Formats: sequence, C-alpha cells, structure tokens
Amino acid sequence: MTASMIQPVKGMNDVLPAEIARWQFLEETARDLLHAYAFDEMRVPVVEQTDLFKRAIGEYTDVVEKEMYSFEDKGGERLTLRPEATAGIVRAAISNGMLRGARHKLWCVGPMFRHEKPQKGRFRQFHQIDVEAIGFAGPDIDAELIALSNAFWQRLGINRVALQINSLGTAEARRAYRTQLTDYFRAHYDTLDEDSRRRLEGNPLRILDSKNPTMQSMIAAAPTLPDYLDAESKEHFAELRAMLDSLGIAYSVNPRLVRGLDYYSRTVFEWVTDALGAQDAVCSGGRYDGLISQLGGEATPAIGFAMGVERVVALLEQAETAPKAPQADVYLVAQGAAAVRESFRLADALRRAMPGRRVETNLGGGNFKAQFRRADRSGAELALVLGENELERGVVQMKPLREGAGEAAEISLTTAVEAVGQWFSRQE
Ligand code: ATP
Ligand code: MG
Repeated sequence: MTASMIQPVKGMNDVLPAEIARWQFLEETARDLLHAYAFDEMRVPVVEQTDLFKRAIGEYTDVVEKEMYSFEDKGGERLTLRPEATAGIVRAAISNGMLRGARHKLWCVGPMFRHEKPQKGRFRQFHQIDVEAIGFAGPDIDAELIALSNAFWQRLGINRVALQINSLGTAEARRAYRTQLTDYFRAHYDTLDEDSRRRLEGNPLRILDSKNPTMQSMIAAAPTLPDYLDAESKEHFAELRAMLDSLGIAYSVNPRLVRGLDYYSRTVFEWVTDALGAQDAVCSGGRYDGLISQLGGEATPAIGFAMGVERVVALLEQAETAPKAPQADVYLVAQGAAAVRESFRLADALRRAMPGRRVETNLGGGNFKAQFRRADRSGAELALVLGENELERGVVQMKPLREGAGEAAEISLTTAVEAVGQWFSRQE
C-alpha cells in the first residue's frame, strides 16, 4: 500500500530550478540598483502582532477584513503572517529607536501572505520587494522612488508597463472629500454591493477601488479627489510632476487611484501592465506621512512602494531577457577509487581558482560511457577525465565537449588548474 500524497497548500507555489534563473536575475538586479540609489537592506520577521496590521492597514480594507492569516500561538498571542512589509518596517524603525529625526532609505524582500482567491498572478503566498524612505517630506524623494522603479524596468528589459500617479492630499483634505463621497454613494445606495455598503461609513474611498463591474459607471461619475486637494498638497504634486517631466519619465494622472491600504496620503502611484490580464498592478506605492505616529512613533513623513515579484517574473518570461537555467562549465569524469578521490581534490582546486564557474564531479560511479552521458547533460563545455592509468602517469585528459571548441589534450595534474583556466580564457 502506498501512502497518500500530501497536497501543497492552495495558492502557495514552489519555485522550481527551471524558473530560478529569472528570480535570481530579478533579485540581483534589484540589489544592485538599490545599492546604486543608496538604499540599505534590512530584514523583519514574517510574523507580527495582529494589531500592528489592523492599526496600520486599517479595519475596512480587503486585507484586514478577509485576507489575513491570523492565529493564536501556544502562548495565547494574537499573531498574523505579514500581508505586506511596510507595517513591519515601520514597527522595526520604532522598536529599534531609529527615528529621532534620522532619515533612512530601506528595502527588504520576502514572502507575504494573503488569503485571497488564488488565480493567475494572485497567490496566497507571494513575494514583494519593498522599498521605504523614512524621514523625507519633500516631493524629491517621491520622484527618486519612481525613477528607481523606472530604472528597474529598464535594466530588466521590461517595457509593457505604464505609470499612474495621483495625490490623496492631507488627512484633512481627504476628510472633506470623504464627506462629499459618502453623500454621493448614499444617494446611489441601491447600486452599491454588500462590501461597499459596509464600507460606506468606515471608508468610502475604498469603494472607488471596487472591481465590481455593475458599479463602475456609478463610480466613474463620483466626485474626484483632485477638486478637494489642499494648497500644499497641490504644490507637492506639481513639483513631483515637474521632476518626472525633467527626468523624462512618462506618466498619467489617474484621479481615481486611491490604493487598497488606508495609510496613504499625498503621492500615490502604481505601475500597471497590459501583459498579464486582470492582475495588472506590478508595483504600487505611496506616501504615508501619518502612519508612523499612528503606530506610536514620533510623527515622521515617509514614502514607499512594493513590487510583486511573481508578476514581474511573469513579465520577464515574456521579455525573455533573463538568463537560461544554469549549466556546468567543467565536468570531472573519474574511474577507480583513487582517481575519484583525486578528481574531488582537483574539483575543489578549480572552484577556488575560478569563482563563478560551475564545476561538477561525477557522483555515483558508472562506466566512462555513462559518465560522459551525464557530462553532456550537465551542459559542461569541458570534461576532465581521470582513470587509473592517468593517475599513475600524473596526467588528466582535457576534452572539449562542444563542437569547434578545440582538440582534446593531455595535461599534467600538477598544472591542471592553470591549464583549465587558460582554456576558458581562450574561449572568450
Ligand atoms: P491588487 O490590486 O492586485 O490586489 P494590491 O493593491 O492589493 O494589488 P499591494 O498591497 O499594493 O497590492 O501590493 C503591492 C504589489 O504586490 C501589487 O502591485 C502586486 O504586484 C503584488 N501583489 C499583491 N497581492 C498579490 C497576490 N495575492 N499575489 C501576487 N502578487 C500580489
Ligand atoms: Mg489586493
């Protein structure tokens, strides 16, 4: 009797070796670029107090209302798997006394968890690259963050993305707008779906974000936020636009862009794509000047964005700019116990001498024919062959495996590392 198979958790994916090259390309590009823009990596826990997300993201959001993985641990603490990274980074900045007027440009990458309906581009465990600038009030950092995301697409070779921006104004300006919006939606109560009716009092702005097709024309006719912006927010937004113009970054102003989370103020932006179907947001961000004090820290302006790694990987697949799956460079073929031991020693010396190259030893024995089959499959350009006879004479056979890569040669074991290095430099 065979044991029953354990199923993977719905909406949580394995990233297989065949896909990993794209993930690594994306992560390395992000790391290099964030370094170049002077952002520092930090890491925060995957689990936080449930209250953190309730207070940061807001009770009347999809995330808090229905998407959180919350549980009570053995000590009776109410905890949640993080649905996003901003709240955790802000909590960490407060917990570690990092504020006190200081400024920080931070980023992190890792898994997020939301109990959503799994579909193409929407998962229950997904990954974000999260970038936060804490302690900056002006529109210059808003422009820099957008420029950074723009440079990221350029480096990745992704061009089917477009930038939308909007300003939500200050909390006061939003309050005035909210009153108008509540009145408007109340007048259209019959058209509102159940979720929207519940949000009417708690957070009417969220209704604008609804994807329900039956509500779209009613939403399209609702009053828009830009009419309620305060003078300072208007100026902030105008300066941001001027900076984007001078950087040559194209954008459109979307007055209905309100973002799904509650904590935003002033600048919000989103990169959308037409290449992935319904899940069109690949990178979303905004300013959250009120969040830090709301979480018990001293009032500090801040702005950040998060990029959905799976969706960017899907764009990379279409752009085909990512490297192929990794292949071996050298494969060591060896037969006889002493020769196998020597081949391990040689492989180690090669790995030390040629960092970045992939050196594969033959594992599990087999005759020469079987070993050469494995060598071919490894993708290696060069096989090094070591039998009992070679070992006795202190030599190794160097066999190029690709058409036109030169002749086979016998080289001395004592100088094999140099000879292999020279062979690879001749190939370049
Ligand atoms: P959406 O409108 O697609 O639900 P969101 O507004 O909930 O996105 P954010 O919370 O701002 O998204 O997260 C930032 C980015 O993370 C999104 O732009 C998207 O690329 C990605 N993302 C969000 N939720 C998921 C998910 N369930 N699966 C995969 N990626 C996701
Ligand atoms: Mg969402």
